[in-house]
Amino acid sequence: MPTILRETYPTARKEHGCEFCCEKIAIGQKYVRQTNIYDGTIYDFVTHQECNEVAHELNMYDDCDDSGLDGDSFRENLNAYVYVNHYNEHTDDVYTSWQLNHYEIAKKILKELKTEKQNGPYNKIQRQKHIR
Ligand SMILES: [Zn+2]
Repeated sequence: MPTILRETYPTARKEHGCEFCCEKIAIGQKYVRQTNIYDGTIYDFVTHQECNEVAHELNMYDDCDDSGLDGDSFRENLNAYVYVNHYNEHTDDVYTSWQLNHYEIAKKILKELKTEKQNGPYNKIQRQKHIR
């Protein structure tokens, strides 16, 4: 795995391309810049905050290969998530509301995960009450 030397959250002064989703990081948008070292080479890895967050949330780093998580695996992971959770049997495809670019998908998944977390404990409490 690459070693992260430094992680900063600057505001984009020029347009960048996110290494995960391949979409643009707009001027004025906060993003993640990691300075990594791997195999003796130092390089910068630039991503959206949301893309970085969703990669952690979905534990993508757990099963990536030795050179770290790359954009291809990131996008495959997102696609897999959407296929598992938002597949429409009638159209034999993912729901049209999920047919988005990978940056939009990343944001949508994050939102969904946050809602689940909020609802999780609440549902548990409701169930416990029900048992009593
Ligand atoms: Zn991105």
